[in-house]
Amino acid sequence: MKKTLAYKPQSAWQIYAGAQERKKMEALAARYIDFLTRCKTERETVDYVRERLSQAGYSEDFGAKSGNGRVLRPLRGKALFAARRGKEPLGKGLALIAAHADTPRLDLKQRPLVEQPGVAQAKTHYYGGIRKYQWLARPLALHGVIIRENGQSLSVSIGEKPGEPVFCIADLLPHLARKQSAQTLSEAFEAEKLNIILAHSPKVEKKAKNEGKDAPGEAVKEQLLDLLHKKYGINEEDLITAELQAVPAGPARFVGFDKALVGGYGQDDRICVFTALEALLTAKDGPRNRAVIFWDKEEIGSDGATGAASRFFQYCVEDLARAWAPGTPASHVLLRSRALSADVQAALDPDFQEVHEKQNAAQLGYGPCFSKFTGSRGKYGASEADAEFFGELRGLYNAKGIPWQSAELGKVDLGGGGTVALFLAAYGMQVIDLGPAVLSMHSPFELASCADLYATLQAYRAFLEA
Ligand SMILES: [Zn+2]
Repeated sequence: MKKTLAYKPQSAWQIYAGAQERKKMEALAARYIDFLTRCKTERETVDYVRERLSQAGYSEDFGAKSGNGRVLRPLRGKALFAARRGKEPLGKGLALIAAHADTPRLDLKQRPLVEQPGVAQAKTHYYGGIRKYQWLARPLALHGVIIRENGQSLSVSIGEKPGEPVFCIADLLPHLARKQSAQTLSEAFEAEKLNIILAHSPKVEKKAKNEGKDAPGEAVKEQLLDLLHKKYGINEEDLITAELQAVPAGPARFVGFDKALVGGYGQDDRICVFTALEALLTAKDGPRNRAVIFWDKEEIGSDGATGAASRFFQYCVEDLARAWAPGTPASHVLLRSRALSADVQAALDPDFQEVHEKQNAAQLGYGPCFSKFTGSRGKYGASEADAEFFGELRGLYNAKGIPWQSAELGKVDLGGGGTVALFLAAYGMQVIDLGPAVLSMHSPFELASCADLYATLQAYRAFLEA
C-alpha cells in the first residue's frame, strides 16, 4: 500500500482480503473456538499447551534430553515455560512471548454449601475484575479439582457436555427490583449474593414415622451431599481443600452473519496463549532462541507462586543457561532478552465511545495493538517500552505487511490497567505490550475479531523468527 505523510491504521480485513488468506483465517478461528471451548481454567489451558508441546517433541528434561533444543516446564499445572533453541548463543538473549492463562470467574468458597429456602447453594468469592450482574441468570459450569484426604486428585468438569446439568445464580425479578434499580451498581449487586444454585430436591426419609412431616432443616443440602458422595465419592470436608471455579457454561461461537467475530469466555488472555503457542510451534528455524511463558494470577495482580511476580521464570532461564550455554550467567540472558507482553487491549466500544480517546484507542479488526506503556493516572505503576524497541518492531511488521495499531487503555485519568510487562522489565529486558483488541472484556462472552486473531499469530511468529 502506498504511504501518505499522514498516518492511518490499516484494516486487517483489507490486508487479508484474498480468498486463500480468508480460508486460513476461518480455519484458524475454528480451531481457536475449539480451544476456548475446551480450556476454561488455567489448569485446563496449561494441560492443553503441555499436550501440544509434548506432541511436538518438547521435553521436560532440561539436561541431556534437551539436545533437540525443545524444552518445557509446567509449574503446579497452572503456569508453563517453554523454549526452543536457535542458532545464536543463548547469551544474546531470548525472543520471549508472555501471556496469562487465568481469567475472571467465581471461585467456590472453602466452605461453600448452604441451604436457603428451596435450594442448596454454593457461596462464592469472585476472582479478578468482574461486573457482578453479568453472572446472574445465566448457565454456569463447574471446573476444578478436589483433593481427597489421601492426596488423591479428582478433576471436575460439569455443565459443558450436552445432557449435563448446569448451575445458576438467580436474579431479582423486575417487579420487585424497584428499590434496587435506584441503587448504584456496587450497592445493587453484592458479592455475598453471588450464590450458585446446586440443587433443589430435599432428602426424603422413607421410614413410616416421618410420613407427613416436613423435611428436616437442611434436607436439600443433605440430598446434595448424598449425590456428591455417589458421583465423586466425596464428603463436605473434601470441598474445603478443593479448587472449584464457576465459569460460563457452553461453547465459544462465531458471532455475526459474516462469522467475522469470535464470542466466548476467557479470551483475555487465552487468545494470546493460543496465538503465542501456534507461533512457537509453526515458526521457521532461525537464529534467535525463543521462549514462551504462560502465567497464572495476572487477573489478581500476578502475586503467588504461579504468577509473574514469582521467581519461576528466572529459575527456568537459569536452568536453560546451564543446559544450553554453560558459563553464561542467566542475568546476561535476561538482560539481553526481548519480550512481547502478550495481552489483550480494550476495543473501542461502539456504544460507549465516550470512555475512549478515539485517536489512541484500539479498534477491532485493525490488527494486534501495541501499548507502549501500561499503568494509570500519570503513567503510575507502568513499565514503558523504549522508542528504539517499538520502532524496530514497527519496521519489522511494516516490512512483512502485518497490520498493527497503537493504543492506551481509555482516556487519561479515567482508564488504565496493568499487564505482566513490568515483571519482565524488572530484568532490564526490552518489553512491549502487543495483543488483539477485545470487546466486552472480562465479561462471560468476550468478542474478538477473526482478522485480529489471524494478524496476531502472524505478528508473534514474525517476532520469534526475526
Ligand atoms: Zn489480560
